[in-house]
Amino acid sequence: MQSFVYQILPSRVIFGAGSVEKLPQEMERLGAAKALVLSTPEQRQSGLEMLDRLGARAAGLFDRAVMHVPIETAEAARQEARRLGADCCVAVGGGSTTGLAKAIALVSELPILAVPTTYAGSEMTPIWGLTEGGRKTTGRDPRVLPNTVLYDPCLTVSMPPALSATSGMNSVAHCVEALYAQEANPIISMLAEEGIRAFAQSLPVIVRDAGNLEARSQALYAAWLGGLALGSVGMALHHKLCHTLGGSFNLSHAETHTVVLPHAVRYNESCAPDAMAQVARALGSRSASEGLYDLAVALGAPVSLSSLGMNESDLDRAAGLAVQNPYYNPRPITRDGIRALLQNAFEGRRPWTTDST
Ligand code: NAD
Repeated sequence: MQSFVYQILPSRVIFGAGSVEKLPQEMERLGAAKALVLSTPEQRQSGLEMLDRLGARAAGLFDRAVMHVPIETAEAARQEARRLGADCCVAVGGGSTTGLAKAIALVSELPILAVPTTYAGSEMTPIWGLTEGGRKTTGRDPRVLPNTVLYDPCLTVSMPPALSATSGMNSVAHCVEALYAQEANPIISMLAEEGIRAFAQSLPVIVRDAGNLEARSQALYAAWLGGLALGSVGMALHHKLCHTLGGSFNLSHAETHTVVLPHAVRYNESCAPDAMAQVARALGSRSASEGLYDLAVALGAPVSLSSLGMNESDLDRAAGLAVQNPYYNPRPITRDGIRALLQNAFEGRRPWTTDST
């Protein structure tokens, strides 16, 4: 067995239907008495319900969380937390809302109680992101790791099937890249493979029957594993490419992950054979890239960058941006290789048709 380093992430997880009811006692456990509740405008109702649930423990609601945490939103939320004298944040929502709580914690060290309602996994990572002047900066800081995570599958039932599918594929991507990460270790690999398997079983049920609580529970469990994988080891080509495409071409986060994943995996397939065998085993497919593509198709999710609104004329610039800063990847990054990958992703071609790339 290869040598490795494993760093445990200190978060407390409360899992199961109805677990959100335990929020007041979890706040008490942290010694917190006044929560600033955070939500997106679309999930304002969930934020208001949280205020009701918390009663006197709620300081107020800030319902302006948006994708990629613009610095102006972060500043406004930080000011609101100070104004209300909040001593913790309760983030009810997906990665955008958790991201806003992290932006507050980054400057105030306020503890975070996260109530995830998508499968993005941000609640399990010490990774923060802030966007200023159209440029997103990310970093790792233990102060932004949520202290307590309440995974309640009942809150995910309202997630539309299309978002459930792409959000799930976003988390599958965390699991996949963890398997061939530079810091890969057997503990995280075990969790990552289990995460892919649990998603492959649950997502097809969810897109047919969004209210199936057993499948919702399984997917949320898989999302926890995906988040843990993302937070514990570094990512590679796939995440860097999605970061570039999302940041520079304003493509939707989870959909971009869904489209790019089979192609990034195809690019790396021959250079990480053990990891790819684990992905294929978890999916029950002939190869990792084919299995991921077929899963996206079976879920009715988008499979081409063109369908996300990307222009073919931007592919050259995207390839240039993607190779600007060197980073770890199992297969060396070449501009031609990335350009070919992007073309296949643009057209939405099934990976086996691109065996020469
Ligand atoms: P999101 O949080 O932006 O949510 C998308 C939309 O779905 C929002 O309008 C939201 O209100 C709505 N929504 C969420 N849950 C719902 C539910 N259960 N029912 C109905 N509507 C619901 O999307 P996301 O994909 O969860 O997060 C994306 C953001 O998170 C990106 O900015 C990404 O960079 C970031 N992210 C960060 C990390 C990290 O570790 N820092 C990890 C993953 C994602």
